[in-house]
Amino acid sequence: MSLAFPSPDHLPCPDCGASLPAAGDAGHVCDDERRIDYRLVELQPGIERFDLDLAVWLETPGGRFARFIAERDR
Ligand SMILES: [Zn+2]
Repeated sequence: MSLAFPSPDHLPCPDCGASLPAAGDAGHVCDDERRIDYRLVELQPGIERFDLDLAVWLETPGGRFARFIAERDR
């Protein structure tokens, strides 16, 4: 056993994030609600980045034009 690369006793389930024994899956079945929560947490950075991308895009010529059209049509 190498001390340089300690392996944790438990690993997160790739589908739902539940803590599973690293030695082997003891008949784990993903909980649907938990799996959805886990996916949402995974997606969160992308959702936050979208706001930033939009703010950046609004300062580009294309974005300024779209904003101009949107305000004119209001
Ligand atoms: Zn799972």
